[in-house]
Amino acid sequence: MKLEFAKRMDLLGTENAFVVLAEVNKLKSQGKDIVSFCIGEPDFDTPKNIKDAAIEAINSNHTHYGPSAGLPELREAIAGYISKTRNIKVKPQEVVVTPGGKPIIYYSIHGLVDSGDEVIYPNPGFPIYESVINFVGAKPVPIPLLEEKGFSFDIDYLKKIVNNKTKMIILNSPQNPTGGVLSKEDLESIAKLAKKYNLWVLSDEIYSRIIYEGEFNSIASIDDLKDRTIILDGFSKTYAMTGWRIGYGVMPEELASRIAQLVTNCESCTATFTQMAATEAYNGPQDEVDKMVTEFKERRDLIVQLLNEIKGFKCLVPKGSFYVFSNITEACKNLNLKNSQELQQFILHKADVAVLPRTSFGTKNEGENEEYIRFSYATSKENIIKGLERIKKLIG
Ligand code: PLP
Repeated sequence: MKLEFAKRMDLLGTENAFVVLAEVNKLKSQGKDIVSFCIGEPDFDTPKNIKDAAIEAINSNHTHYGPSAGLPELREAIAGYISKTRNIKVKPQEVVVTPGGKPIIYYSIHGLVDSGDEVIYPNPGFPIYESVINFVGAKPVPIPLLEEKGFSFDIDYLKKIVNNKTKMIILNSPQNPTGGVLSKEDLESIAKLAKKYNLWVLSDEIYSRIIYEGEFNSIASIDDLKDRTIILDGFSKTYAMTGWRIGYGVMPEELASRIAQLVTNCESCTATFTQMAATEAYNGPQDEVDKMVTEFKERRDLIVQLLNEIKGFKCLVPKGSFYVFSNITEACKNLNLKNSQELQQFILHKADVAVLPRTSFGTKNEGENEEYIRFSYATSKENIIKGLERIKKLIG
């Protein structure tokens, strides 16, 4: 039978990290010793108290369906956590628990954006935003993140692209892939525009705890913004729980019940014992998180120093997340390589080091001439030293 997909499947993008990862795994299976900076997940183990809570939950037979929006005790823990950390009042009814933070992107866009609407999103950015905007037939409108602004927005540019068709703006701070953090001033300017144009704000705050300088600010903390904001957060990055698949959205109650309806249609509910483990993550001790963040900061300082010693590489000191987005324009020129993909392939095959090219995070913006690659430093200091020594040996 000839396989004919629905037309909408042509609109769906993907997360290229998984493609590179497959290539890395293939090389590894051929016996290559690859040092990988590809994957965006903490290399630490999930803290023991969280694992114990899941084991206890399974042994107590919490292995059945739960409510689509999440278990009451977890929704309550999340409401308390977000109220405290964002300095706003959140009710449990405003929380929807999902298998990872990612479904909140899919559900919010499906729930709020019609075909023909426009959605502004950061570029370079997490590729799933653009993929899902396209999938619903809306128009993705990238807002370039500028290296000279610490990978923040040019607010004047934002003012030019926002219009009456704009339905939503997506923010991500601390950011993947640049490590940039939006300032309070920028958030205030964005908030004004969101109010003026009656926009929804999808604020992806999955890296909110992984911040090294200054403090984390959420747009939802700004007056009147909570009613038009969906906060995306979760447990994957903060508690090294990527494989557990648990995250959530915080949004106005009326929207939460419709998003829960999407959950009912898709997965019924998030695994109940995973939710009980997440409840322990928020209610239990936080010292393991503090330890992880301290270690990430040391690794960040190490990788930034080593990267800046490589000929033709330069990078800013990222303020958050566990990524560094290195400008490699000069290196490409010196090595006669056309772009970041060619450099990524060059160092993968000649130095056995895996990174992700700029294009894994969206098409280049108009007039963007610089080239970048992303390193995830969610890997040991030994690997950082080994990988960067290999690149230095190859490139100089
Ligand atoms: N948002 C951003 C910016 C991310 O980088 C990621 C994961 O890499 C996610 C959302 C998804 O997180 P989760 O694994 O909880 O679905």
